[in-house]
Amino acid sequence: MYMIVTVKFFFLMQKPYVIADWRCKERYMGGDKIILTDVEWLERLGPERYEILRKKGTERAFTGNLNFNKEKGRYLCAGCGQELFTSKTKFDSGSGWPSFFKPVNDRVIDEHGDTSYGMVRTEVVCSRCGGHLGHVFSDGPEPTGLRYCINSVSLEFEKGDE
Ligand SMILES: [Zn+2]
Repeated sequence: MYMIVTVKFFFLMQKPYVIADWRCKERYMGGDKIILTDVEWLERLGPERYEILRKKGTERAFTGNLNFNKEKGRYLCAGCGQELFTSKTKFDSGSGWPSFFKPVNDRVIDEHGDTSYGMVRTEVVCSRCGGHLGHVFSDGPEPTGLRYCINSVSLEFEKGDE
């Protein structure tokens, strides 16, 4: 009797979670942009992430917690949770920042020309929240020849399937 009650209770507890999770995943794939004010972003992200994601800062090389991460999993935008990269496309570029040769698909990243600091670079931002991720360069490995050089602070790592 006790077991039956426990099992039933377990399923009841699981249901709301599954629904919530499904809704989140649906949102990740959709085109709904997240638009918040600066104050709201600061509250949501905290000062360190706000500085990089919203003010286009750059973390110091070799200081990010995901630079040397070799675990299998997915890399999500720290601003909105959109899935951006997987561990399958991560490689060691020696640059001091997490590097990938390809995003999960071409809809999750937007590119902008960036001429700050006297350099001509291509900035990459999350297509959902517009958060600054880093830059893309054309000196990456095969098969794309691209190097997405991304701040650890802009990413959230989720261990699991690639
Ligand atoms: Zn985002």
